[in-house]
Amino acid sequence: MDPRHARLLRQIPSVDELLRHPALAEAVAALSRPRATEVVRRVLTARRQEILRQPPETLPPRLELAALEQELAQALAAAARPSLQRVINATGVIIHTNLGRSCLAEAALEQILRAGRHYSNLEYDLEAGRRGSRQAHLEGVLCQLTRAEAALVVNNNAAAVFLCLSALAKDREVIISRGQLVEIGGSFRMPDVMAMSGARLVEVGTTNKTYLADYERAITSQTAMLLKVHPSNFRIRGFTREVPLAELSALGRRYGLWVMEDLGSGCLVELGRFGLEPEPTVQEAVAAGADLVTVSGDKLLGGPQAGIILGRREAVQELRTHPLLRALRPDKLTLAGLEATLHLYFDETRAFREIPTLFMIARPLPELWAQARRLRRALRRRLGERLAVRLVETSARVGGGSLPEEALPSVALALTSPHQSPEELEARLRRAAPPVVARLERDQLLLDMRTLRPEDLPLLLQALEQTVAAPAAAPGTPEEARERP
Ligand SMILES: *Cc1c(COP(=O)(O)O)cnc(C)c1O
Repeated sequence: MDPRHARLLRQIPSVDELLRHPALAEAVAALSRPRATEVVRRVLTARRQEILRQPPETLPPRLELAALEQELAQALAAAARPSLQRVINATGVIIHTNLGRSCLAEAALEQILRAGRHYSNLEYDLEAGRRGSRQAHLEGVLCQLTRAEAALVVNNNAAAVFLCLSALAKDREVIISRGQLVEIGGSFRMPDVMAMSGARLVEVGTTNKTYLADYERAITSQTAMLLKVHPSNFRIRGFTREVPLAELSALGRRYGLWVMEDLGSGCLVELGRFGLEPEPTVQEAVAAGADLVTVSGDKLLGGPQAGIILGRREAVQELRTHPLLRALRPDKLTLAGLEATLHLYFDETRAFREIPTLFMIARPLPELWAQARRLRRALRRRLGERLAVRLVETSARVGGGSLPEEALPSVALALTSPHQSPEELEARLRRAAPPVVARLERDQLLLDMRTLRPEDLPLLLQALEQTVAAPAAAPGTPEEARERP
């Protein structure tokens, strides 16, 4: 080894010395000693390797201890933070699957806390004093809201589709329109799920047009089900034809086949009034006579992740006794949150006020402008010349595979910094505390008001202050210090 390498390596303090260092004491205590030791070892190993990678003539004569301590403090703080963190969604995509889809209503959170903190009657019938069913808690409210005869809740909508196909169509044929063999994202492909369930896929029609006669011609003695899948995340436009669910249900009844619709988003209220293309509601699908309708709990419904199966008594009964149900069942926290969310729908005004997903969709544009102006004023006060802020009209999206093309009018703060590129600003905001996920568009950074709730604003300001207040090119930051010859 070159003596210049060796000299610098010798100056690195020992793990024990660093763990006892007063500047790091708080961070070490917060993490517990064994985990802190691991973090310090990792940082030191990386630092040693970095020194060894550098040509000896470029090495500084002395190790910059202050920079190392700062790096350690950051690494210890990062290790103490939970991996799953609160994030500020400034993307304008309301049901953002990567950011956790729907935020829950306060009423739902309270129920979740109660169910988590205490024992509950999850599977206990308090009247009879014996074992009960976890499914009993939601069936009543689901049937009341949707007018379905029976209901069942599972882990998510993918699980719902899988359970329905496994229980009702294993080793038999399921007829589906070619235009509906969709991929939902996160590699949920209809054909793959069907194959896993043991059902055999029979495609009918063409990509753009399918008629009732196409389904009817494909029916054989092997057919178990007619399946419709809502093309959640795309639209086929122009010369198109799909068979309405009511017609498919009538055909199914005539031939004694199950009819199912995977509706995806699970909207319980009309959204047409917000200028959005009408998304089929769950109530409409149930009324159209399908034996089974499946929806997600955390898309337009605005609840926790869940798969909701609604339908006729006989069809749901087949699922209840299927062994897979045990593997796909929802946990008590989900049930608690979902029950409370569903109860809000009995008063639609309350649903729009209290369910964040609906609140964001319904929020009037003038309110968003007012929020944008307030935020701009606060930014000017706090950051002055460090940041240029303009208000621009934007299009927010519902997202989550619902209403894919539908734009919700919105407003954004367009940020430009004289010292940082938009990409740099975006990257630093993502690493702020709390992290802010924004949108880069045409060389500017946009913070969309539609996905920012009033309670997010103080934290957003805090994150911006950290981000913009520490210019990336300033000397003395640990990265810079290390790179200086
Ligand atoms: C979103 C979606 C799914 C998957 O639902 P998860 O709740 O994410 O499992 C399945 N089918 C359709 C039509 C969807 O839109």
